[in-house]
Amino acid sequence: MKKVLITGAAGFLGSHLCDRFIKEGFNVIGMDNLITGDMENIEHLLPLENFEFYHHDVSKFVHVPGHLDYILHFASPASPIDYLKIPIQTLKVGSLGIHNLLGLAKEKRARLLIASTSEVYGDPSVHPQPESYWGNVNPVGPRGVYDEAKRFQEAMTMAYHTYHGLETRIVRIFNTYGPRMRLNDGRVLPAFIGQALRGEDLTVFGDGSQTRSFCYVDDLVEGIYRLLFSDCADPVNIGNPSEITIKEFAEEIIKLTGTTQKIVYKSLPQDDPKQRQPDISKAKALLDWEPKVSREDGLRITYDYFKGFSHEKLNQRDHKDFKRYSVI
Ligand code: UDP
Repeated sequence: MKKVLITGAAGFLGSHLCDRFIKEGFNVIGMDNLITGDMENIEHLLPLENFEFYHHDVSKFVHVPGHLDYILHFASPASPIDYLKIPIQTLKVGSLGIHNLLGLAKEKRARLLIASTSEVYGDPSVHPQPESYWGNVNPVGPRGVYDEAKRFQEAMTMAYHTYHGLETRIVRIFNTYGPRMRLNDGRVLPAFIGQALRGEDLTVFGDGSQTRSFCYVDDLVEGIYRLLFSDCADPVNIGNPSEITIKEFAEEIIKLTGTTQKIVYKSLPQDDPKQRQPDISKAKALLDWEPKVSREDGLRITYDYFKGFSHEKLNQRDHKDFKRYSVI
């Protein structure tokens, strides 16, 4: 049986990837230090014979016994609020973490796929963003710790590919949503749905004219699965090109949830990208992939997930105890 290691397994994307690889008949090792992940996301996998969980921080030496065919590196804080709270861990997992995993992949002769991001394009001056665009990133701004870690991660991965001949894949992920997002990590979709369910006003940052393009998680997972088994070592954008302003997005959530609350405007965070839309021509040509789930359907499924939360869970502020984690 083929064996895959998935880091960040208890997170939003990691847990959906574990589900997919289990479904495809792989032996799956999920690894997570649980700094932003949640065991609830993979609880259903724990009784399975072909699933194992390692509670480990990939910024430290990673040991996995036996053979390994594939590694998917999805461990990283992934919301602007998280980078502000845990900037050093964010830098470490994208730098020390990837170095450990590249070493492991080399040792095991495994193929390694890394989760990169549209944040490598920063606040883009080219629109939509093709893979050939080099980006516009502020290295010392609040997002710098994430953006630069991801850019370094791409550089390091490419160096192992060219110098050691390691089989590597790089996916640049655009805004993705779906069940198992963390309710209070500050990302716009759980923020709006949480506010609607608690009967609070929806907080749009700035004038809401900034754009994003939201991809449903199942579409993303399909794209990643195809990329892993392709022969493309260069970065590939995976995202949904359907672009919307954040104000329009808030209006869609108001309609979906039927909330009687209104939109309130708050100040725009520093370096918040003004526009973002993936150019997916490469994924279409190389992987025969394009997103299938409409925003209407995807939002409905996601809303149903959050609607199931108890009153207590909805009102819980972020329970993550970041202080427990060393930054040394
Ligand atoms: N945003 C907002 N209200 C919120 C949270 C986010 O208007 O309560 C905005 C945010 O400023 C950004 C967009 O929504 O322009 C997407 O934010 P998110 O943090 O989800 O992702 P990213 O900025 O990394 O794309």
